[in-house]
Amino acid sequence: MPVGTCFSPAIETLERSDLDALIDERVRYTVQYAADHSPFYRHWFRENRIEPKEIRVHDDLLTLPLISGKTIREHQPPVKTEFEFLSTDWSDIFSIQETSGTSGTPKGFFLTWDDWKRYAEKYCRSFVSQGFTSRDRIVVCASYGMNVGANTMTIAAQKIGMGIIPIGKCSFDSRILVSYRPTSIVGSAFKLLRLGRRLKEEGVKPEDIAIDKLVAGGESFAEESRKYLAEQWGCPVYNTYGSTEGTMCGECTELNGLHVPEDLVHLDVYDPQMEGFVKDGDCGRGVLTTLLPVGGKSGMILLNYDTEDTTLITSRGRCGCGRTHMRIYNPQREAETAWIFGNSMNRADIEAGVFQPENMEYLTGEYEAFIDGGESPDEMVLRISVECLDPDRCNRRLVEDHLTGRFLKFKPGLAGQYDDGNLKIVLTFTRTGGLELHSMKGRPKRLVDRRRYT
Ligand SMILES: [Zn+2]
Repeated sequence: MPVGTCFSPAIETLERSDLDALIDERVRYTVQYAADHSPFYRHWFRENRIEPKEIRVHDDLLTLPLISGKTIREHQPPVKTEFEFLSTDWSDIFSIQETSGTSGTPKGFFLTWDDWKRYAEKYCRSFVSQGFTSRDRIVVCASYGMNVGANTMTIAAQKIGMGIIPIGKCSFDSRILVSYRPTSIVGSAFKLLRLGRRLKEEGVKPEDIAIDKLVAGGESFAEESRKYLAEQWGCPVYNTYGSTEGTMCGECTELNGLHVPEDLVHLDVYDPQMEGFVKDGDCGRGVLTTLLPVGGKSGMILLNYDTEDTTLITSRGRCGCGRTHMRIYNPQREAETAWIFGNSMNRADIEAGVFQPENMEYLTGEYEAFIDGGESPDEMVLRISVECLDPDRCNRRLVEDHLTGRFLKFKPGLAGQYDDGNLKIVLTFTRTGGLELHSMKGRPKRLVDRRRYT
């Protein structure tokens, strides 16, 4: 498979009008399938007095209510006796997966083998759009657990003909890279940064290894940290956005937004009130709907599922790579966004400040931030801790200027509060391993809002 081609060219380059017609056909089929096969949707349509047949085109999904992770948890054991989202016979289920989420019982996910093939198809398209071919050998750092990521990539690798090294974590011995000479690694941006730093400390030179592209996923990152990661490894870094719920979007070699596999998953972007769609180009909340091909079966269907991630549609036009499927901006977690003085602030806004090129002579890139109340009710304090390569020879003034400067540059509302003295930014410099998040289990939370609300 030569570089620059598509995994499924006919579908990936479909003209917009044909693609929209295909989406509408699949919306109709999937909605009817859900109503016919899942106890949850059977009740849901009845309760909301909506006939599944009334949903004719994708915009009609706006008339249906939204569901969320909470809805799934409320319709499965132990709350209910049955898994009400299950939408086929148990005998058709090939695997049961779970997503941990941040609270409560994990959500159960049921996949038929056809579901797995469709999940893998999405990753195949993403990998091929990033230039992967049968000549590639890939280290999978994503964990082979109850979520679908690592296994889906492995099935996708088989379909493309790639080799796979299924390590399942990023803390592997550098010998793996030197001995087997894999061409790529899939992992989260920060784990790849840490791995890159470790290789340097161990004296592994770029010519000792064969990595020529990296795939980062699992958490959002700032453009600045991607740029630094790409420099550290000397190769392009491609972003992916995947979840057990079925979003599997990937950036192509154009590095100009993530392609959404529109024939398999429908993505709407809602306004903050969750009442309507925003215009393309405006930021909002991503809401996904599974799309099944006519005649297809699925273990679990999601209609109007709130991802709790914010994004925006950058284009529905043809990309430089030839694909017509729409592109979205790197989604950010709503849970990693805080509001101060009426302005939204995501952890990526702080990350962009940390990763200013001038700073990276002194910093590892690891950081954490806390929002605290100030001495008076009108004050707020943003405490940012950064890790230094060597605290004794860190130009703290330079780091502070660049970090604060970049952070406030795109936050004019906060810059005003900062100039008036209402917003204080306090920077702390730690040695490597000195951040609080290193002692926490699970996914590190880099922006913590510690204000007390009354
Ligand atoms: Zn593209």
